[in-house]
Amino acid sequence: MSAMRHLTLIRYDEIGLKGRNRRFFERRLRENVARALEIPRADVAWERGRLFAPGGDPFAPQPASQPLARVFGVRSYSPVLRVDPELEAITPVALALAATGVSRGGRTFAVNARRGDKRFPLTSLELNVALGRSVQQAHPGLDVDLGRPDFTLHVEVRESGAYLFEAVLPGPGGLPVGTAGRALLLLSGGIDSPVAGWLSMKRGLALHAVHFHSFPYTAQGAREKALALAEGLAGWGSGSVRLHLLSATELLQEIGRLAPEGLWTILLRRGMLRVSEMLAARQGCGALVTGDSLGQVASQTLENMAAAEAAVSIPVLRPLVGFDKAEIVELARRIGTYDISVRPFDDCCALFAPRRPDTRARLAQLERAESKMDLERILGRALAEAETVELGRSSRRRFLEPAEELAAV
Ligand code: ATP
Ligand code: MG
Repeated sequence: MSAMRHLTLIRYDEIGLKGRNRRFFERRLRENVARALEIPRADVAWERGRLFAPGGDPFAPQPASQPLARVFGVRSYSPVLRVDPELEAITPVALALAATGVSRGGRTFAVNARRGDKRFPLTSLELNVALGRSVQQAHPGLDVDLGRPDFTLHVEVRESGAYLFEAVLPGPGGLPVGTAGRALLLLSGGIDSPVAGWLSMKRGLALHAVHFHSFPYTAQGAREKALALAEGLAGWGSGSVRLHLLSATELLQEIGRLAPEGLWTILLRRGMLRVSEMLAARQGCGALVTGDSLGQVASQTLENMAAAEAAVSIPVLRPLVGFDKAEIVELARRIGTYDISVRPFDDCCALFAPRRPDTRARLAQLERAESKMDLERILGRALAEAETVELGRSSRRRFLEPAEELAAV
């Protein structure tokens, strides 16, 4: 008899549309899949629009959350059994899958056969009929229902073998992390910015993150939140996020001392964007990402976003601009960052919120206020004293030495 193999078949689609970039996307997806499964890349096989990872049991109940459900670029995946592409090898496995379906209470079924290799003697339709007949002989009470069957026996006949499976499990879709370049996420302790980070990873961006703390005004807990959030994001995509922890204390003090209260929020935002732009240049990041959404709070009017953004020349991406708060919260829950975000610690912006924020800050006013400050020294120092942590899906947190950090760029 033929040798059977347990595998997981992985489907991706959007990548297929990318023309000449296709191989690049596939290589990256393969690498990200290998990292998620913690296996060598060579163990993930590629064959014509599919990846195959070792291991997978089509007879076992499928756990809700598996690593592949968190790899961007994966459309869906199925634990499969591979046999020789011959009817005599396919039929017993189809019968065993049907027996499993029946034992779980299934009363109707369908067969979905696809012949990818034209050397196989039966057409897809003929294979459907042959397998359907064998299953009904073995289980006379079982009815065919092509509309809403209780279970479906899938068979894909390819050059490398026939693949049989029952479950088609959803992946997160999107593009493989790393295929769209690298960006720096401004990660507060709030609900929005982790979601913004997740959405940008979904479109293929690899992420670094920067968090501004303000000891001694904010507790150690704020920093722990940022670490936990970055770690949460690292569990998606390629499996790692580099977090830079910077102090905004001196900047806050300088703003508080020299600027009118109505401008505090935007001045702080401008300062953060400026340091982030410097950090992005050092780390090879081509854009900043923020959790801004239009109109949510006073600093998020179009005028104020424009005034903040005018401080930098790097692109600032705002993936949440079209989202309602309720939609953001729902997504945060789904991706697992919500529970971390609502831990009760103030971030520096919350502490620093002026009583009547100015929603129409004028650029000239802002620049006048800034001209009184020694921004170059303050921001330069914040950057020089940054602490960098490499957060991985499963590895422990690793604090990088400055030299090591630059070497890795
Ligand atoms: P979030 O829920 O992400 O905190 P928010 O709705 O509270 O967002 P703001 O506090 O106005 O909005 O912040 C807007 C954006 O500025 C954040 O989404 C984040 O990208 C960035 N930001 C704010 N505070 C910090 C911080 N302490 N460190 C890094 N980035 C920050
Ligand atoms: Mg916030």
